[in-house]
Amino acid sequence: MTIRLMASKGPDISEIPEKRTLSVLLAAPRGFCAGVERAIQIVERAIAKYGAPVYVRHEIVHNRVVVEGLEAKGAIFVEELDAVPTGRPVVFSAHGVPKSVPIDAATRKLLHIDATCPLVSKVHVEAERHFTRGLEIILIGHAGHPEVIGTMGQLPKGAISLIETIEEAEIFKPRDPAKLAYVTQTTLSIDDTAEIVAVLKRRFPSVVAPRKDDICYATSNRQDAVKAIAERCDLLIVLGAPNSSNACRLVEVAARSGAKRAVMIQRPHELDPKQLDGISKLGITAGASAPESLVQDVLARLRKFFSLEIEEIGTIEETVHFKLPRLLDA
Ligand code: SF4
Repeated sequence: MTIRLMASKGPDISEIPEKRTLSVLLAAPRGFCAGVERAIQIVERAIAKYGAPVYVRHEIVHNRVVVEGLEAKGAIFVEELDAVPTGRPVVFSAHGVPKSVPIDAATRKLLHIDATCPLVSKVHVEAERHFTRGLEIILIGHAGHPEVIGTMGQLPKGAISLIETIEEAEIFKPRDPAKLAYVTQTTLSIDDTAEIVAVLKRRFPSVVAPRKDDICYATSNRQDAVKAIAERCDLLIVLGAPNSSNACRLVEVAARSGAKRAVMIQRPHELDPKQLDGISKLGITAGASAPESLVQDVLARLRKFFSLEIEEIGTIEETVHFKLPRLLDA
């Protein structure tokens, strides 16, 4: 069917296809968490206080839009401290860094500002506490992720063993099964982690668990919000980056929780309207490093092709806020 636009006089001036109705379910909460907001503010405040450029070791958070926005304001992203010239401040990313990094910065006489999320720092403190008590520590997480590198780097080599899967938990051989504790990466799948923990508790009943879950509130809330809409979705889109752990987990959670299909996109233009042929209910969420502006840009793109019926499904209201380092007080 088409809608014909008629000129007030004369012939038809155009003919455009009528927009099909697309039902959109927005998961809430979604997007930025308190740790990401704090990390971005730290870089912005550092630029305001010390002038550009301010160096940032590693992507401050795993999102190119955020990184490019900060680059435009005067941030320079580097992978290692030897790329930071003397006299310029350097910010450490929200994922946390091994203990050797601030020591190296001090040796190089670099002013360093730590944007590690306080919930990642909590895991670092927990691991140290276990170590001081003489416990062997298991870290449940993903090899190579900067948060895992940072957490393992809080303690001497060999103090922490990484477990990624149930299979690894089944064959892990502790030095002393009675002196064992575990901590986890903050951005894991709640369900996968629970299965790994169940194996550890079965094999080592006295294993010491975190006082409060290490998987952070933002990761849990975003996964719960996806679970609440997944079954109703023909397709669920996660705005995020492939190197963002929590965004990758959202795609997995969506697929496991009943979404017919789940995909990740980094930017709105990656969404091809042809992908939406046959889709009547589209779910949308965003990982903890993805700004809300990306969600709104996706909706704006969709409006060019569809008449949208948008429903936001909220599971919990978030009120978490973290203070900035005092060093950045004006
Ligand atoms: Fe902190 Fe969680 Fe956000 Fe990571 S996802 S920065 S741990 S609040």
